[in-house]
Amino acid sequence: MGIWWAMSRQRKLIILAGLGVLVCGVVLRSGCIPPRSFRATKQPRTGRALGGRVALVYSKHYQINMGGAERLHPFDIRKYAKIFLALNTDGYILPADVFVPEAVTDEQVLLVHTDEFLASLGNSDTVARYLEMPLIGKAPAFLIDAGILHAFRYATGGTIEAGRLALRYGIAVNLAGGYHHAMPDHGEGFNIYADLAIAIRVLRREGLIRRALVVDLDVHQGNGTAEIFGGDDEVFTFSMHQGNIYPVPKATSDLDVELAGGTDDRTYLSLLGKHLPAVIDRARPDIVFLQAGCDVLASDPLASVAMTDEGLVARDAMVIDECVRRGLPVVMVLGGGYSKGAWQAQYASIRRTLRTYAFPSGPPHPTRPATGKEAVYVK
Ligand SMILES: [Zn+2]
Repeated sequence: MGIWWAMSRQRKLIILAGLGVLVCGVVLRSGCIPPRSFRATKQPRTGRALGGRVALVYSKHYQINMGGAERLHPFDIRKYAKIFLALNTDGYILPADVFVPEAVTDEQVLLVHTDEFLASLGNSDTVARYLEMPLIGKAPAFLIDAGILHAFRYATGGTIEAGRLALRYGIAVNLAGGYHHAMPDHGEGFNIYADLAIAIRVLRREGLIRRALVVDLDVHQGNGTAEIFGGDDEVFTFSMHQGNIYPVPKATSDLDVELAGGTDDRTYLSLLGKHLPAVIDRARPDIVFLQAGCDVLASDPLASVAMTDEGLVARDAMVIDECVRRGLPVVMVLGGGYSKGAWQAQYASIRRTLRTYAFPSGPPHPTRPATGKEAVYVK
């Protein structure tokens, strides 16, 4: 202790700052200590196509982690982890069944985004604007990178991997993704990397596809995806969204269908049923990406389309079944919708896909109660 008091004020400050950084690092790493089933998702790892037909893609790195501060966010940004956990505890999968992606690389990002955009991610205020979280602008850039951008890079890598897997097995679900507001030169609406567009360009460059269709059923228009593929005849963008909410003004998709506030299951499903077959005919895709945002639910605080959980399941089923019927590979990404409990509707939709195409006689594993640690992690 004597040495401490003998030190100059400046040296003490340097030591304290060093300790501060160390503590920040430790808190960031351990803010959410994942339970065993989460830790088992080693990076990257080959999983197993369920029933030989459905591939699930998930990474523990999808979790945004600001040392626990992310829990103060009003939205449920743990929905990816909750769905993964429920699939495990309800006996549909073992942790080793999921395909674990690598993070998207800068080279892949540049297939869609500009150099300037990539450079802008080093500026805290700019990223805070993209995320619409002004307070984040006060944090050092390296913390934002490790706590938030890192998660989005893995989620984007997941959409790319889900594309490859859908081409191999038929159906792939990335338990994340759908960042359809991201533009080539900037992010917006909580979206940084345009994962759908990046995945399509990567699959094309790998010679796996030529034509693609994006069916965007998030309640917000897929303005980023529409903008990126605006002059591209080989990618068809179809967006069905509420008309009088963000984004304003809207971009122009190949087909936009605007919904009024209060649209119920019946109206929604009959509109989708009317447009979907014609859209697929026009698009002639080699692969279909379904942005399955659950913010069309009546409970969503940012929109006022009034679908029920059952309606959401029927909506996703309509798209997936139509693709399967036509022999088209289909990728589902989760998109928006972070209201409390909304994850359960998306989980029901994924469960329905598994029951229909992988496990017609029910979950293959016994149900397992979540451990206390898991409950803390996904609370
Ligand atoms: Zn949305």
